[in-house]
Amino acid sequence: MVRLIDVEMEHTLAEYATDIVLRESVREMQDAITDDVAALEGRTVWMVNSTASGGGVAEMMPKLLGIFRTLGVDAEWAVIDVDAPGFFEFTKDVHNLLHGTGDPEIVDRERALYERASRSVADELVGRLAPEDVLVVHDPQPLAAGAKVAEELGLPAVWRCHIGSERQTEKSRAAWEFLQPWVRDYDRAIFSLPAYVPEFLHDDATIVPPAIDPFSAKNKRLKPQEVAGILARAELVATDHPTEPFDEPARRLQADGTFAPATEPADLGLLFRPVVCQISRWDSLKGFLPLLRGFARLKREVRPAGDAGADVEETSEREEKGATNGGRRAEGTARTDAHRRRIEDARLVLAGPDPSSVADDPEGRAALEAIEEAWHSLDPSIRRDVAVVVMPPDRHESALVINALQRCATVVAQNSLREGFGLTVTEAMWKRAVLMGSDTGGIGAQIRDGEDGRLVPDAADPGSVAETLDAVFGAPDRWDEWSHSAQRRVADNYLVFEQVTRWLDVLGALVR
Ligand code: UDP
Repeated sequence: MVRLIDVEMEHTLAEYATDIVLRESVREMQDAITDDVAALEGRTVWMVNSTASGGGVAEMMPKLLGIFRTLGVDAEWAVIDVDAPGFFEFTKDVHNLLHGTGDPEIVDRERALYERASRSVADELVGRLAPEDVLVVHDPQPLAAGAKVAEELGLPAVWRCHIGSERQTEKSRAAWEFLQPWVRDYDRAIFSLPAYVPEFLHDDATIVPPAIDPFSAKNKRLKPQEVAGILARAELVATDHPTEPFDEPARRLQADGTFAPATEPADLGLLFRPVVCQISRWDSLKGFLPLLRGFARLKREVRPAGDAGADVEETSEREEKGATNGGRRAEGTARTDAHRRRIEDARLVLAGPDPSSVADDPEGRAALEAIEEAWHSLDPSIRRDVAVVVMPPDRHESALVINALQRCATVVAQNSLREGFGLTVTEAMWKRAVLMGSDTGGIGAQIRDGEDGRLVPDAADPGSVAETLDAVFGAPDRWDEWSHSAQRRVADNYLVFEQVTRWLDVLGALVR
């Protein structure tokens, strides 16, 4: 029921420090943590969550623990396996409630199930932990079990909540009411953003934002020929040169409704054209549709006079929302030729997971279908500039493709209508991409408008997307400034080293 997961450190700190940008981050961490490491001596830090693979938490855990151990902090990772039927369905419901969806009534049967399963997990954990150890429990699944362990062994305990919504609703309040008694048994609670802290913890929570590993397949440095090589192997770029294709390459939506190699019906021009790219799960809240419509609208604005074929979708949308300025720009802001050409040449790539991986995710399926439909109803002259792409199913290959796409894109977009934190934004900022994000949740916290990129004021409105994208395309003289600032911001706040520093700060203070 409780499994210990092996952790291997893929890269040493010395290896990280060979990177000129990372050297400072590694050193700052080493300087900051000495007292905390000393305070934790003789104790084991136990990280407890509910999954060993899949998702951001499981991805970061080995990196975090690997660095803890390198720094001299004894740490273990335990995953709870609960076979009681309905347990994970219930905790998933609680998760959804925290995000504001689902039935807010939590019935006695569900409470009893959660309590009972937590009791057996706790019994097992109590046998493994010592009273001087430190317990860190992630998310609601092991929350109650951890609370019981903390109480019985009297050890210092932290609850780390990775879930968050800025809106407190009747539903989220119902979930918090349910969780609250256990949360109170912990010495500290940690959240990703201040806006996610529930009312009863307002004076009592610590903020630790998520972080990325700069050496992972998704984020490591790639030389230009490596970017080209990965894109060619994924069949996202056509080449006559010898390359070894991935077993299952990326695929792109075709006019006949099938998905085929992305080089069909013609090469996208990823390495040569101004490319706007958004990579996300297929979820209506990721804002793919208004991004597609905003991009199409901007394209139409620069279309030569006489080429007036209106898209079906756009006609209705214009009636709904009223196009900004009837599609014309405000006076006195004429585009230069280079600016207009950039828009004419631009291509939009909307990328997400392979649909087979969303087979058991009807919402993901539906979101992808809505995008397919919107794409089909575009005017063919614009449709050819928009690619709906699914990633290679292999995790490692897909990570490399995300890396390469973010590096070759002129603009990385993340137009989410709602967003927990937005690791895709962190990943792109780290790569010094030019960012266009929506002004929501963690995206607005990461990108400072006009400093690290641009924010779309109203991500649901294609007009707002079009205007912001137009402004980005019109300001190439700012791109270097934004992207350098973005990378600096990630190095200062959102790398694994900063995360380790914050964790050890919290844990050190707790045991002192
Ligand atoms: N991602 C991925 N494959 C995809 C789309 C996204 O591996 O097809 C990754 C992406 O690079 C990021 C994570 O999934 O690391 C998504 O995290 P984010 O915080 O942006 O959004 P979430 O999916 O958690 O809402």
